[in-house]
Amino acid sequence: MRVLVVEDERALREQLVKTLQRAGYAVDATDSGEEGVFMGSEYPVDVAVLDLGLPDLDGLEVLSRWRSNGHSFPVLVLTARGRWTEKVEGLETGADDYLTKPFHIEEVLARLRALVRRASGFASTTLSNGPIELDISSQEVRVGERDVDLTAYEYRLLEYLMMHPGEVISKTTLSEHLYDEETDRDSNVVEVLVGRLRRKLDPDRSIAPIETLRGRGYRMRAPPADA
Ligand code: CA
Repeated sequence: MRVLVVEDERALREQLVKTLQRAGYAVDATDSGEEGVFMGSEYPVDVAVLDLGLPDLDGLEVLSRWRSNGHSFPVLVLTARGRWTEKVEGLETGADDYLTKPFHIEEVLARLRALVRRASGFASTTLSNGPIELDISSQEVRVGERDVDLTAYEYRLLEYLMMHPGEVISKTTLSEHLYDEETDRDSNVVEVLVGRLRRKLDPDRSIAPIETLRGRGYRMRAPPADA
């Protein structure tokens, strides 16, 4: 999952970036509203954290430009204490949730996970696909009764695939959602990650959860319609 952070308070921004990276997100961050508009329009953002009080461009304006450019990724708005009118305006402009400063950083994580899950149309924190179960909150993965230990990138890859079951996803799209803008990307890395993920999920090749479509990408087996 790729998250965009637009926050001008340096200490808070750095804390958000660190916490989100540790939680397994690819993070792009800026202190500028103008740059935020650009990044939200050009990067494949899955979810954004947006401060409303920015020096160059009001956060509400950033949000309204994203929305009028057709970007519907969920947005968690950060507001200063007591600015309830901002909350109302934020929600009207298309914010999906808001947090009042000061807040516990864990609260941001909890809200973001809920937003991503809702945006993907999942009602529960557990995604399942055949015998594979992935818990978005604890980031634990099981296959049947077996716990599977994944690295941060393997986890991100699996989470992305499981949120888009039955869809063909290109290597480029995958690497865009796994890595932030500052990381060098190489589609071979995605191949290697997919290979490692398959071996960990399916060591005896009995379930084959991830299909390769030559020249097009990968597809997570779609769960049966009644699941
Ligand atoms: Ca601010």
